[in-house]
Amino acid sequence: SSIARPAARGHRPPAPNFAGNVLMDALVATARKAGVTLHCDVRARSLIVADGRVVGVRATEFGEEREYRATRGVVLATGGFVDNDRMLEQWAPQQVGKDKVSDGRDDGSGIEMGMDVGAAVRRMHQTETAMLIIPRLAVGAMLVDGDGQRFINEEVYPGLYCHAAVHHRRPPVWVIIDEKGIEDVPESELWGMQPMHAAETIEELAADCGLPAEALADTLRRYNAGARDGQDPQFGKSSRWVRPLEPPFGAYPTGAGGPDSFNGLPLKPQGFTLGGLHTDLQSRVLDRAGEAIPGLFAAGRCTHGLHGEGYISGTSLGDGSFFGRRAGRGAAQGTG
Ligand SMILES: Cc1cc2nc3c(=O)[nH]c(=O)nc-3n(C[C@H](O)[C@H](O)[C@H](O)COP(=O)(O)OP(=O)(O)OC[C@H]3O[C@@H](n4cnc5c(N)ncnc54)[C@H](O)[C@@H]3O)c2cc1C
Repeated sequence: SSIARPAARGHRPPAPNFAGNVLMDALVATARKAGVTLHCDVRARSLIVADGRVVGVRATEFGEEREYRATRGVVLATGGFVDNDRMLEQWAPQQVGKDKVSDGRDDGSGIEMGMDVGAAVRRMHQTETAMLIIPRLAVGAMLVDGDGQRFINEEVYPGLYCHAAVHHRRPPVWVIIDEKGIEDVPESELWGMQPMHAAETIEELAADCGLPAEALADTLRRYNAGARDGQDPQFGKSSRWVRPLEPPFGAYPTGAGGPDSFNGLPLKPQGFTLGGLHTDLQSRVLDRAGEAIPGLFAAGRCTHGLHGEGYISGTSLGDGSFFGRRAGRGAAQGTG
């Protein structure tokens, strides 16, 4: 907020099943109206190249071989690779053993099909990592790592603090709050969660949490010194959320070094991959020299998309639809 004024944002229409059906129904209806023929249960295996141009795909349908020829272009939109442990080992080993956020078919096959015809890949090590930390609780609290140190503004998007907690901090990461902080969270946003530990002093709480007592007490002292003036000099949390934390204190575990579940809810980190085929602004797939591979487009999670470090929700469907549209247009017009 010191650089730009954040705008209120949201990306989930109020509909059942997280509203995914709303989006997919609209896309499928539009495709049908445009005269698209859909072939389901067909698995693409490899790209067909003739005279340096991608001109189709080899596929199987219930074990039977099929070939699809494309006169103007092929678009890969096969999703990420979180379900492919071999690729995870190779490209994003930090995600091995974490739970997978996927439909079970993010096997990276489209990325490898592209690589087989010379495509470059980008940001293959980047992953989204989420875990259960209640945002409304965290924002009024201190997120501390295994050294008893705060490491981020607790007001940022959860995708950012979860990523930082899981991949960059010494575990265990805890949410440290006081009684008033818990009372301030509306019932509907607390999901019935009670703290795992509660104590009259921060030193006792540290002992319960397995944190270094002196370091945690010092972190609290520094946090409260700024908070008395409504400031967070260390990370710039908005004054709206900053208040000195007073005893009694409470601690909530996180999936970063904490138990796998708590209060009956899973805490274990889960995620998906963000890297993929290197594409340009026209969604053309580029080779290792940065040249567009004739006839080949890609969009969505099988490409590197917009992401750098840390995930912001909405940017999957956002960049998938934005670049998907460009890929579709390019392939229809044969501009690849
Ligand atoms: C629970 C959950 C919540 C999410 N919430 C959000 C959110 O709020 N906002 C947001 O932006 N994103 C969200 N995401 C992420 C987003 O849904 C995905 O990143 C996005 O769907 C990726 O779209 P895609 O079309 O690239 O790939 P996918 O949706 O994975 O589709 C790829 C398709 O290709 C098929 N396929 C793969 N390989 C082959 C092959 N060789 N041959 C034929 N078909 C193949 C797959 O079966 C699949 O149907 C969420 C994801 C999950 C799981």
